[in-house]
Amino acid sequence: MKLISALLDLLFPPKCAFCSRPIVRGELLVCPDCGRDLPRTGSMCRVTGDYFICCVAPLFYKDKVRESLLRYKFAARRIYADTYARLMLEGVLREFDGAFDMLTWIPVSRKRLRRRGYDQARLLSEALGGLLGVEAVPLLEKIRDTAAQSKMGSAEKRRANISGAYRVLDPELVADKRILLIDDIITTGATMSECAKTLLLAGADKVMGAALARRRD
Ligand SMILES: [Zn+2]
Repeated sequence: MKLISALLDLLFPPKCAFCSRPIVRGELLVCPDCGRDLPRTGSMCRVTGDYFICCVAPLFYKDKVRESLLRYKFAARRIYADTYARLMLEGVLREFDGAFDMLTWIPVSRKRLRRRGYDQARLLSEALGGLLGVEAVPLLEKIRDTAAQSKMGSAEKRRANISGAYRVLDPELVADKRILLIDDIITTGATMSECAKTLLLAGADKVMGAALARRRD
């Protein structure tokens, strides 16, 4: 097996998830330079909104982080999910260790899933669930396509755009549960608020969130 993986590394050298430079294989696909310079959120890691306790995100959505996420979502770099999950783990443990019963994600619509072939937030929650030893369970469904939140402008428009866009797949699964909700990027928290509201209305006890990156507007 060692020989095979050495051969594979020679043929397809592992690359940094943030700058695409070849790297030595390790737990994280992050080169030493990116390890040092990634735009970390530090004391600004918490995003608050309605209906969820808070959402932790280790990175700001800019520069290399933005480019990496665009490759992850639109250029089939599913392999980044594990690296992203490892970057999210510390904040999740610090903020919410022992505070949630299950993990789920903010899903894309069926139409988008068909076009892209994978749900980026689902891959992220499955990778994070693996690290936490907590199963990632599908709880929500996006029942209508919405315009991109980034094109909406005001907070009010963002809320209106996303209102009623999700439903709970099985209320029995969420009843009295404390749920960690995962997304790749969080901006104002309007989408996370809408999903948290949907889960609470279906009987969930509490909702908290985690994302890889927060966007500053
Ligand atoms: Zn790098």
